[in-house]
Amino acid sequence: MKKLAALFTAAIVLAAGGTALAMRPDWRFVMTTAAENTVRSGTLPEKTVISTEKHSLEELNSREDVTFSEQLMLVNSEHMLDSEYTPSLTDYKDTGIYLRREFADAFAELNEDVKNNCGEGLYFSSGYRSLTEQQQIYNEEGADTAQLPGASEHNTGLAADVYVNGFAGEALIKSPAGRYMNENCSRFGIIIRYPLGGKNKTGISYEPWHLRYVGLPHSKIITENGLTLEEYSGIYDDGEWYSYSGYLISHQTGSELYLPINFTDCVISPDNCGGYFITAHK
Ligand SMILES: [Zn+2]
Repeated sequence: MKKLAALFTAAIVLAAGGTALAMRPDWRFVMTTAAENTVRSGTLPEKTVISTEKHSLEELNSREDVTFSEQLMLVNSEHMLDSEYTPSLTDYKDTGIYLRREFADAFAELNEDVKNNCGEGLYFSSGYRSLTEQQQIYNEEGADTAQLPGASEHNTGLAADVYVNGFAGEALIKSPAGRYMNENCSRFGIIIRYPLGGKNKTGISYEPWHLRYVGLPHSKIITENGLTLEEYSGIYDDGEWYSYSGYLISHQTGSELYLPINFTDCVISPDNCGGYFITAHK
């Protein structure tokens, strides 16, 4: 059965490649992406054994060599934010679009890269939305297109919708800048949160315009392995350590966390499901 499946996916890839010359670039992009999603086999983090030390969350909160971020929070209709949730935000380059600082910095780098390679950049159509604004949108648009307050990633400041001049929504990938952004955002800690073919996991159709910050190296692992954020949380055994491209990653639960003894740039993020992700440099 496996061989048959491999032959079948190979045929899709050949079909996508073979007809590529005659196809419009956006269709070629969609077909290639669909084919890649069926045969993706990136490198997953590998289990490793390291020396660790136990710390209370209280102690970690006061340490300067540890950063607390919410970069890996899973937010959807099953994992909602609580009604008091208010992130700290920054006004992105005085545009009136509010984002988390870490997302704003990563997006600035991504947009610079898009401009350098495509001659034009991305614009925001939506960034952070308060729970009150989300309720208004839900009331106006209804459950088919809008999420309840607390179920939308826009309520975190870690997500944004973007467009290219003249190309918004699904048309984004008709523009070279939109396609380039889709193919390269993972190098900057950003993912296409609702990927092509991911609806059975995310509950949401392909949205090439909706960006979500998860940080490095998570964006690369997710993208290269064709995962959704829903699936990503489940790839780690609790309390174990994993090695990936110079990073150490661990998922843990409880009020005490184990951190590597020798590390730099340690980032701790709640997963919004009762656990924490720890990311450190070796
Ligand atoms: Zn969005």
